[in-house]
Amino acid sequence: MFHTPNLITPHRRSNGQDHPLPQISAHNRLSAMTAPLIDPFQRAISYLRVSVTDRCDFRCVYCMSENMSFLPKKELLTLEELDRMCSAFIDMGVEKLRITGGEPLVRRGIMTFFNTMTRHLESGALQELTLTTNGSQLERFAGDLFAAGVRRVNISLDTLDDQKFADITRWGRLPQVLRGVDAAQKAGMRVKINVVALKGFNEDELFDLVEWCAGRDMDLTFIEVMPMGDIGNEDRLDQYWPLKDLRARLAERYTLKELAERTGGPARYVALEETGQKIGFITPLTHNFCESCNRVRLTCTGELYMCLGQEDMADLRPALRNHLGDDTALQTHIREAITRKPKGHDFDYARQSVDGRVSRHMSHTGG
Ligand code: SAM
Ligand code: SF4
Repeated sequence: MFHTPNLITPHRRSNGQDHPLPQISAHNRLSAMTAPLIDPFQRAISYLRVSVTDRCDFRCVYCMSENMSFLPKKELLTLEELDRMCSAFIDMGVEKLRITGGEPLVRRGIMTFFNTMTRHLESGALQELTLTTNGSQLERFAGDLFAAGVRRVNISLDTLDDQKFADITRWGRLPQVLRGVDAAQKAGMRVKINVVALKGFNEDELFDLVEWCAGRDMDLTFIEVMPMGDIGNEDRLDQYWPLKDLRARLAERYTLKELAERTGGPARYVALEETGQKIGFITPLTHNFCESCNRVRLTCTGELYMCLGQEDMADLRPALRNHLGDDTALQTHIREAITRKPKGHDFDYARQSVDGRVSRHMSHTGG
């Protein structure tokens, strides 16, 4: 059983008023060392996204250049170090862990890591263990992931056309990913398809993608392309298809009903009345989600990014490596980093230039 009830714990603000803390479980509340992580804007950090590798078997044009140079393997946190890191966050109130990359399932031995995280699901400290993947390795791993406690998976898929898929991913092949989608559903995982909205690329497949997902009972989320990292000759403004335009096209065919659901991230959801399907829109360039942001991101080298859209980070690796067997220093560093979590990001596509661009790739921080 991987379930624990949520308890709402009052937290006393410096002005003396009580402030309800969202989603802190009994396990974490009772842990003496481990007061929950609250940032300066009173946001409780309950969600950690971990990039376990910067490598990938695809080269999606909006994400990477064709000739990427990757980190030397010795720079990466070992699987044991990833375990220590994630466990420290879980002890401090993180209840949802998303494993990403790069492509998480190309990291050698990655199932060992998933299997060690299962203990946190079983103890009730962790409510959800999940991943974002390009699906290429799911045929092989879906059953093992389910056995480790993974119940939901996000699979990135921008087109249902073989040739377009090969073009956009450069190295990917659609049938392999479709077999991965089948395997995930067969194993019992709930699948959400992530589609990056790309002007002139998948505009014409909008309704096909919606209907394909509806037919297979999969959720669907559209993502606005973000200005992250050098991608060679591609131009992001050429790729940018604002989701408000996409949404308006959807409304020409379907009745959209706004859902109140919030995840503490940049997604907003609607239900399509005709299909009953849930559709998400991730618009990271707007600021409408920063106030409720509940997440931080850890890279595969142990850098903690407090905001996807800012350069500030805390290097946690020395605290991990210099204090073997004792996580007090690590936890102190994590707490200090959280005090630097900014109010919001600075992305801006206004005036046809990409301001507030961050230099690292999405595959570095983890999408
Ligand atoms: N390799 C895995 C995958 O593709 O799902 C996980 C990592 S990938 C960086 C995570 C998500 O980020 C994917 O859905 C991908 O489409 C998205 N992504 C990558 N670069 C992006 C960008 N510049 N703007 C918006 N989304 C991006
Ligand atoms: Fe790889 Fe995912 Fe980036 Fe595509 S989006 S290149 S699959 S990390």
